[in-house]
Amino acid sequence: MKQKQFAIIGMGRFGSSVARSLHTLGYEVLAIDSSEQRTQEVVNMVTHAVQADSTDEEALRALGIRNFDVIVVAIGEDIQASILTTLILKDMGVPALIVKAQNELHGKVLTKIGADKVIYPERDMGVRVAHHLISPNILDYIELSDDYSIAEIRASHSMFGKSLRELDIRAKYGCNVMALKTGDKMNIAPYAEDQIKENDILVVVGRNENLQRFEETFSE
Ligand code: ATP
Repeated sequence: MKQKQFAIIGMGRFGSSVARSLHTLGYEVLAIDSSEQRTQEVVNMVTHAVQADSTDEEALRALGIRNFDVIVVAIGEDIQASILTTLILKDMGVPALIVKAQNELHGKVLTKIGADKVIYPERDMGVRVAHHLISPNILDYIELSDDYSIAEIRASHSMFGKSLRELDIRAKYGCNVMALKTGDKMNIAPYAEDQIKENDILVVVGRNENLQRFEETFSE
């Protein structure tokens, strides 16, 4: 199977991090930025780095942007450039278009004009950090929708030695334990008889209020 090829537009902190990570993972990455300096900064960390203005349709065509499997638009501050770029790429019929939004309104416009996925890295990271600050037992928190999330919760003292069946998490709290982490080992879809040990981490999915109730019951 042919490996996916990625084009990332906008080499700010977010865009360059996505580009570098994909390249480190062994994927072909084209990095595009209108600034010569930004392009130079990433030249050794991606497959190709090109200086180009993504609001210039001809320039994008010349780069063969349509041949890429996934395109990430990571232009933040210049909302007009972000919207224009999205519109042009959508018109060209690129297969998958992921766009970073600066705020909710920007995100709404991007969805309306056909972005396949809109991401809010600062907002999402803010939510994750806030949950960890409220409760240090919550190691990570990922919003799946407005109502549902996945939380990584450190096992508390009162859980040690108990099985998932004994804790009866699904019936009592309406949450599902998707996985149990013990050190480096990940137990996906654990059995009801699996016991929770000290230092285990529970990966739990559920409604936000149920996750909160679950976490509060076991916080020490
Ligand atoms: P971050 O928070 O990830 O650092 P940001 O949201 O502040 O980024 P900007 O710094 O505004 O985003 O933009 C990211 C990059 O996008 C900049 O390096 C900028 O040069 C580039 N950029 C802006 N407009 C265009 C454009 N029309 N074509 C290509 N690149 C562009």
